[in-house]
Amino acid sequence: MFFKGCPLHCRWCHNPESIPSAFGKEWIKQNCIACGACAEHCPEGAVRLSDQGVEVDPERCLECGTCVEGCPADAMKPLGKERSVESLHKELVRDKAYFGAEGGVTFSGGEVLMQADEAARLAALLKGSGIGVAIDTAGFAPWDAVAKLVPHSDLFLYDMKLDDEERHRAFTGAPNALIKENLVRLSDLGMRLWIRTPVIPGATDDIDNITAIAAFLRDRDIKFERWELCAFNNLAKDKYARLGLDWPFRDAPLMKKAALDAFVAAAAASYGKPAKILWTGMTQREEHHE
Ligand code: SF4
Ligand code: SF4
Repeated sequence: MFFKGCPLHCRWCHNPESIPSAFGKEWIKQNCIACGACAEHCPEGAVRLSDQGVEVDPERCLECGTCVEGCPADAMKPLGKERSVESLHKELVRDKAYFGAEGGVTFSGGEVLMQADEAARLAALLKGSGIGVAIDTAGFAPWDAVAKLVPHSDLFLYDMKLDDEERHRAFTGAPNALIKENLVRLSDLGMRLWIRTPVIPGATDDIDNITAIAAFLRDRDIKFERWELCAFNNLAKDKYARLGLDWPFRDAPLMKKAALDAFVAAAAASYGKPAKILWTGMTQREEHHE
């Protein structure tokens, strides 16, 4: 389940539609019948129809929703919905058999911690119904927000993107001291933790960054069950195009397996204690040499 709104702006974000708290909308080219109703009825004159399709000027758009409601072809779609905690609980409980004993619901985003009160209420209801809850978070929030989720969650999937504060700020728009501190506190409380590091070309994919994160985890005695190095993929390319957003990673290739193996080896060596450290995701098709 994805929560809207995120305080970070990671340049590689795979869910750009989740960054703004406002719902926003996307234009689906293959559905559009070029009727022009959206441009005609937009009170701000923010919509333009051209040979390229429908373009919305983000500077003029006030997110009034008129173009979404008036589109006869389901081509202008809202990116999100306001939902009550109770209605979500009711819907999710219907899938309880599907989740099984080991599964459950993952709260992701966006950033769950921006809606910590609602998320905690929903997590408590789900737990009360016998459904597990995992929190997928970047950890950039006051501790009070994190603490609200702790009693009602089984697992935190916690991002450690960049160890260096300045580089973290440059690539995500925020410092990382609070993120690190919250992780230490979660670990000290005995919360189950999966650490995740996105391995992004030109951003996080250097040995120094990986070994520095390993040293932090070791030195602060973070007790994690596993640490995943998540290989970059460019599957968000089409989504960025639909949203009319530029994406600097549009043409970045998948990583090579050998490079990911080397990051895992460096992480393990720097961490220096037995731990489950692995890479996940897709890689380039390997060339085979005789
Ligand atoms: S949401 Fe409202 S202001 Fe924005 S483009 Fe659509 S009609 Fe215009
Ligand atoms: S109202 Fe819908 S179908 Fe008509 S031009 Fe706009 S997006 Fe396309």
